[in-house]
Amino acid sequence: MLPDETAAWLRENGEAAYRAGQIFRWLSKGAESFDEMTDMNAALRAKLDGSFYISVPQAARRQESQLDGTVKYLWRLRDGNAVESVVMSYGYGNTVCISSQAGCRMGCVFCASTGAGYVRDLEPSEMLDQVLFSEKDSKKPISNIVMMGIGEPLDNFENVMRFLEIINHPGGRNMSMRHVSLSTCGLVEGIDRLAERDLQLTLSISLHAPDDETRRKLMPTAARYTVAELIGACRRYFEKTGRRISFEYALIKNVNDSEEQAKLLSSLMKRVRGHVNIIPLNRVEGSPLIPGDTAAFAARLERLGVNATVRRRLGADIDAACGQLRRKGVSELCGTGKKATGAR
Ligand code: SAH
Repeated sequence: MLPDETAAWLRENGEAAYRAGQIFRWLSKGAESFDEMTDMNAALRAKLDGSFYISVPQAARRQESQLDGTVKYLWRLRDGNAVESVVMSYGYGNTVCISSQAGCRMGCVFCASTGAGYVRDLEPSEMLDQVLFSEKDSKKPISNIVMMGIGEPLDNFENVMRFLEIINHPGGRNMSMRHVSLSTCGLVEGIDRLAERDLQLTLSISLHAPDDETRRKLMPTAARYTVAELIGACRRYFEKTGRRISFEYALIKNVNDSEEQAKLLSSLMKRVRGHVNIIPLNRVEGSPLIPGDTAAFAARLERLGVNATVRRRLGADIDAACGQLRRKGVSELCGTGKKATGAR
């Protein structure tokens, strides 16, 4: 809840509204019970405890990469569903990659997050918890958030907006929107709605192919929106917010790595002044797709005058890299819960 909402409840219940700020601060620090809120009297704490709950996800599993120290969590939610988050360390600080849905209904053929289908949207609190409790457990102060885990954020629009409002609130984490990235597989209406909010976050578009034919083979959403329609929405977004868009491109050998595709991609990027983030294709069980040569493709784009970078591959040994996160149901968790380290 936002402080204004808590304040309204406090007033209605004969309590001082300023308490709302205290409560919000405690919650933003990851308090797990009202008893921790020691600057409030016991009677008020009991009253709050009788009317509200504080969600605390359980770390059903915690894995740490031997390669780069990346930490992946499998969080067990209140209803037995589970989603993953990943904490990554960069020179400028630590970033958490969080999930926005339990499962995903977008169906991209190269992505493990969508394989088991969609179950439900995550609540704003469940997104917040991934930030707070990943930080608390890993002891790595989080300075950046990427909404690039399981799920399609723009398919859970209102909850994602509310989560962003909470994380950005000056009375709590006060995280600048400039430290948040949101990735979408390209839902045009969602991009237009987001543009209206005029946030300073970084929008990333999972493009993966510059032509409709290839894109439709990889991503079912491409059947709903053509590349031209998507680029149109990106232009409107850039014009409204002034923020440059980053385009994700998972490089797949003999699928989207040709010279013609590079040229087509470069002409699209000129229209939106976009930046291409080439992602090394990560292994997903049962997929026949083979990674392309990212350095060669990056050089090709550079020659065409496109601003391109290759995404670092972190946590590959613990299946924590892009497209490797999966939701788990209750049954799959059986037997792992007890052994988990860092469980609360
Ligand atoms: N649903 C959103 C958020 C997921 S972000 C979206 O589609 O953008 C995860 C990023 O990893 C997306 O760009 C996704 O397309 C990419 N990805 C998925 N599977 C991958 C794989 N096997 N290798 C590399 N990148 C992958």
